[in-house]
Amino acid sequence: MSDNVDQEVIDSIERWVQRELRPVAKKFDHADEYPEDIVEQMKELGLFGATILPEYGGLGLSASTYARIVISIASVWMAPVGIFNSHLIMAACVQRHGTSEQKSRWLPRFAKGEIRGGVGLTEPNAGTDLQAIRTVARRHGDHYVINGTKTWITNGIYGSCFGVLVKTDPDAQPRHKGMSMILCEKGGGFKASRKIRKLGYKSIDSAELLFADYKVSADNLIGGIEGRGFQQAVGGLELGRINVAARGAGIAAGALRDALRYAQERQTFGKPIAHHQAIQLKLADMATRVEAARLLIEQAARKYDTGERCDLESSMAKLFASEAGVENSLEAMRIFGGYSYSTDFDVERYYRDAPLMCIGEGTNEMQRIIIAKQLIEGNPV
Ligand SMILES: Cc1cc2nc3c(=O)[nH]c(=O)nc-3n(C[C@H](O)[C@H](O)[C@H](O)COP(=O)(O)OP(=O)(O)OC[C@H]3O[C@@H](n4cnc5c(N)ncnc54)[C@H](O)[C@@H]3O)c2cc1C
Repeated sequence: MSDNVDQEVIDSIERWVQRELRPVAKKFDHADEYPEDIVEQMKELGLFGATILPEYGGLGLSASTYARIVISIASVWMAPVGIFNSHLIMAACVQRHGTSEQKSRWLPRFAKGEIRGGVGLTEPNAGTDLQAIRTVARRHGDHYVINGTKTWITNGIYGSCFGVLVKTDPDAQPRHKGMSMILCEKGGGFKASRKIRKLGYKSIDSAELLFADYKVSADNLIGGIEGRGFQQAVGGLELGRINVAARGAGIAAGALRDALRYAQERQTFGKPIAHHQAIQLKLADMATRVEAARLLIEQAARKYDTGERCDLESSMAKLFASEAGVENSLEAMRIFGGYSYSTDFDVERYYRDAPLMCIGEGTNEMQRIIIAKQLIEGNPV
């Protein structure tokens, strides 16, 4: 896509965010209700095909444009981003690793949002240590039979199709050689067994998924060869980290925007609190964090778009921007004083939503470990 077309997409999303999303965010978040109308509008905007190639009916946006869209949406309400982003991680797995038959069969329907879903990696006993998963897929002729439990799966209730990480050879050593990704559609032994109640990231469904003798065609094995699932799952993480970074930066920017406005309206001791130096110091730090996060995200996204390895850059962007979201939302709470605790304002939502960005797509502890390893490898003595 040309820069002009990308700018048009960014502008139309920004108009939609202000016109449709901002007015309903509080209502849906507080009711913890799935925003059906918003999902329909996101379908029409093409968001379920944002990073799917145009030949399969997607918008084919660059990572850089996609990140800017995510920042714009998350600056108002972060949760809806999860509805299309988890779906796009599943789609990216098919687009990057699927057979040509799988791409033409699934991607056009993913792009339209006709089939929606996400990725099922995490299990009750395995999150960071993904190779410890216990879900097993046993081959019987032309199909697999899957048994196991996934947890914390985004879109787990309202989604119908998931890229599921399984063990096709549970005894393999090293463990990752026995792992595969299989596209699973709900029905006949595969269902959502429990909705998980959460601190924030409301309205979007996080669920436990249960597989009990679920039979799925061997045609759904992504890439058609067993043993590649771990690489396929973690291979999507560079883009996933840029996305989570953009969500963190969006929350940081939203917290700054609201705090800057409130600080100029709220008066104490005869002047707006924005004129007290203690508040100015907070605003300055908040704005600097937002700009630094944007630049780190832009750097990682541009490198990703060139096709170069960018795990160092995407980890730095994810680490910094997600912490910026947490810090800015807390500073906004302080600037709003007692009113920050009121559900009449949006800052309490930013404060509840922000910490998730430090966990998803690899915890920030793991990002620091990735960054440090690269530093040591790149600078041998
Ligand atoms: C709202 C929400 C939505 C989610 N959506 C999805 C989804 O759609 N699909 C999906 O598959 N998963 C999803 N997850 C799961 C998420 O990816 C995991 O929670 C995350 O990977 C961390 O795993 P864990 O919770 O099991 O923590 P653990 O792996 O148990 O880690 C606990 C703590 O130990 C630290 N730690 C672990 N290992 C090390 C190490 N080697 N060195 C240093 N520190 C370490 C971690 O950083 C963390 O602080 C979601 C989670 C949440 C909360």
